[in-house]
Amino acid sequence: MIQTKGYAAQTNKSDLAPWNFERREVGPHDVQFDIQYCGVCHSDLHQIKDDWFPGIFPMVPGHEIVGRVVKVGAHVTKFKVGDLAATGCMVDSCGHCENCKDDLEQYCLEGPTFTYNGMERDGSMPTYGGYSNTIVVKEEFVLHLSDKLDLAATAPLLCAGITTYSPLRHWKVGKGHKLAVLGLGGLGHMGVKFGVAFGADVTVLSTSPKKEADAKKLGAHHFVVTSDPEQIKAAQGTFDFILDTVSAKHDFNMYLSLLKTNGTMMCVGAPSDPADISAFSLLMGRKSVAGSAIGGIKETQEMLDFCAEHNIVSDIELIDIKDITTAFERMEKGDVRYRFVIDMATLK
Ligand code: NAP
Ligand code: ZN
Repeated sequence: MIQTKGYAAQTNKSDLAPWNFERREVGPHDVQFDIQYCGVCHSDLHQIKDDWFPGIFPMVPGHEIVGRVVKVGAHVTKFKVGDLAATGCMVDSCGHCENCKDDLEQYCLEGPTFTYNGMERDGSMPTYGGYSNTIVVKEEFVLHLSDKLDLAATAPLLCAGITTYSPLRHWKVGKGHKLAVLGLGGLGHMGVKFGVAFGADVTVLSTSPKKEADAKKLGAHHFVVTSDPEQIKAAQGTFDFILDTVSAKHDFNMYLSLLKTNGTMMCVGAPSDPADISAFSLLMGRKSVAGSAIGGIKETQEMLDFCAEHNIVSDIELIDIKDITTAFERMEKGDVRYRFVIDMATLK
């Protein structure tokens, strides 16, 4: 076994604290890489608090993981020691269901193995995430990174990036479309960057008036403060798509009224509370509410390559792992500009 250092929540009520644990030895098809940076996703906060379902504790969160390969198994062909490597939200899937065969491992019919708060497929041990110094992952679930991009700012692409890229690609959002990005946090700011890169006219819908200047710097064309009834009135029926990245309960009916006829609300935010949606919000205007989860491995690599080509990374605040609880508190208040990334060199 590989002795590993990390930060874990011991229960759903405890703050993260240093914790040593073991990872499996590098198997013939595995890549081991030392983690240099790990992004802090709102899903990490949901899961350590058991917002979605009872979790597996101790829990080491983190699924925006980048670093350098230190060991490869005998049958590994795509990585060698010293290469940059990355892992996102999944580390395995069944590999033989319809969705896995279609490069949609995130929708594996037997359930993908998530990077943490899951069990290895053989049931031998829990999975532990990227708030740690090293990780062992099956080669097929390890991504290649370009050395052209800032490594720390690349980490959030592994979740916030692919989660916004995938629905925008699936619904073919681009030139001629009016796209609203609801919530300017980790996911939202990547949604703005991709929406702009794909040629859409992008509006940020935000509860935080102070984020307007940043939204424009990120490339957004318009900014609507959602608490201002006048601004909401003016935006009625104007969007082809809304990319909803909100992490807490919110008023779907109000936001659906901002869609044009045939418009689609693409939900990627994952509040724990169910939404109340009136049938009238949908049928008057033939509107759709849809969801999307991360992206498959092939699409994640495509997204990373797109980012390297177009020089897209996240806007980050690099933190010491000792400050993770403060970072979570700030995230809860919507005070993230726009992704915290842990510098793993601070994990002593
Ligand atoms: P984040 O950085 O905290 O951003 C969420 C943003 O939502 C906030 O910055 C805030 O933006 C807005 N917001 C928060 N509370 C709100 C409320 N009550 N009403 C309206 N707006 C509110 O979080 P994140 O990391 O981007 O994650 C967002 C959500 O996506 C989380 O639920 C996460 O679990 C989920 N997620 C889903 C997937 C997937 O595969 N579908 C993947 C990753 C994450 P403003 O200040 O601009 O209003
Ligand atoms: Zn995430």
